Amino acid sequence: MQRLHITLGDITHCTTDAIVNAANTSLLGGGGVDGAIHRAAGPALLEECRKLGGCPTGQVKATQAYRLPCRFGIHTPGPIWHGGTANEDTLLSDCYRNSLIAAAALGCRTVAFPSISTGVYRFPVHRAANIAVSTIRSYLRTHPEMQQVTIVCFDQTTFSAYQTALSESEYNDAEKR
Ligand code: ADP
Repeated sequence: MQRLHITLGDITHCTTDAIVNAANTSLLGGGGVDGAIHRAAGPALLEECRKLGGCPTGQVKATQAYRLPCRFGIHTPGPIWHGGTANEDTLLSDCYRNSLIAAAALGCRTVAFPSISTGVYRFPVHRAANIAVSTIRSYLRTHPEMQQVTIVCFDQTTFSAYQTALSESEYNDAEKR
């Protein structure tokens, strides 16, 4: 059964156990998906985030979900794109893997991600999609208890990039067998 799904929509509507927020290192809210998550969760999320003391790029901090329809928020600052020479690929992969590790530690079986770093942080979307898909698929291979991971894309271009990355990754795996 396929356990990684790509969908088009608004992550704040996801009823998964956890949703991941593409945060910034202050964890004090921002624009894009971060702003949408804070608006949907309500002011209590910012109150909890204020106590967390920020978060380094690629690492994660978990919170309650407040008015969101999920159980937990996992906040991870993605890397800002500087042209590819500032460890961006590894840091982006860290965001996905560390979010899954944190969600699993909280007992989550279903997790939704946005397209981390490809908005204001300008990470090229095809490159980001390949990193996201390969990191999540490699985690799922060794963690059968994680039932479903969804990447929720907000626009058609992003959706197509992640669909392509997923089909290519599945095709390459089939070729190896
Ligand atoms: P970053 O700073 O990590 O680049 P952004 O929030 O600017 O984060 O963008 C990351 C992605 O999240 C972009 O593709 C953007 O279109 C998307 N996005 C914005 N709002 C939502 C939402 N409500 N649900 C899902 N994705 C969203």
